[in-house]
Amino acid sequence: MVLEMKDLCVDFTGMRGKVQALRNVSLSIHKGEILGVVGESGSGKSVTALSILGLLGSNAHISKGEISYLGRDLLSLGKKEMQSLRGKKIGMVFQEPMTALHPTMKVGNQLAEVIKRHREVSKREANLLAVQALREVHIHDPELVAKKYPFELSGGMRQRIVIALAMSAPPDLLIADEPTTALDVTIQQEILQLIKELNSKRGTSVLLITHDLGVVSKVCDRVMVMYAGEVVEEGKTEAVLNAPSHPYTEALLHALPDRADPGQPLQAIPGEVPDLQNRPVGCAFASRCSKAMDICSVSAPALEPVSGNRSAACWLRGTRH
Ligand code: SF4
Ligand code: MG
Repeated sequence: MVLEMKDLCVDFTGMRGKVQALRNVSLSIHKGEILGVVGESGSGKSVTALSILGLLGSNAHISKGEISYLGRDLLSLGKKEMQSLRGKKIGMVFQEPMTALHPTMKVGNQLAEVIKRHREVSKREANLLAVQALREVHIHDPELVAKKYPFELSGGMRQRIVIALAMSAPPDLLIADEPTTALDVTIQQEILQLIKELNSKRGTSVLLITHDLGVVSKVCDRVMVMYAGEVVEEGKTEAVLNAPSHPYTEALLHALPDRADPGQPLQAIPGEVPDLQNRPVGCAFASRCSKAMDICSVSAPALEPVSGNRSAACWLRGTRH
């Protein structure tokens, strides 16, 4: 097991008081596996990632739970230890590549600097390895690109460079939070393909956060669906997408473009994510669920095994819709 999270609860304290951003979130990532975390914005996907990376802000508080990385308890690590783990053992790729790049430093130098931090190599060797790293993320003419500044490159190129930076240590786990959301559709496919290729070539485990089940179906071995800070369904990608056990997963699938009639606008899921400050007593999805029953607004269903290796948190669980 590369990463294991158990019953994580995270609260945020804001102007309006305390908000429970994560409620009993558990997940595991095996060696070489790609786990997709899917859900609308505000479902807790990014908070889950930031918790693992030790990058939650000072207004966040982990009130319960455990995170272990290759058997090490991450929540007991000091700032320095966590810092050295990040980048070296756990790589990060975010939505906007510019946030991860130094704006006034040539990309080759940025890569060489990171490589020197992780490996005992000379400056010359680091420069050669930087060009090699660019080649591995399929950048044509890497010698030329190494001499460019980030602003001289396209968004897709920048994201490739961020991936090269993240993979340079190389890490055992790559956390990618909406890595393709800001890119053109064709570039999105290429970046996803690249992540999948690095995963299979190097055996790097990946936590891939996305709001798009289409992305999950193309890339992920397993998927975890989040709603209002909770895991509502989890299982092997094919099983979950072929026959979802949770009405929210089903609604996300119906919102996929290729399911919609050609020329028709995308079907959005009616209603809104509940205000986490005033979390409903029962199932958080009840106000938007077409299958809601009396019990749903009274009592919240727990995440429980449905069949095989999958789980769902729904009073209808185990039944076919
Ligand atoms: Fe819908 Fe009830 Fe299942 Fe919640 S528990 S998803 S409201 S059927
Ligand atoms: Mg997010």
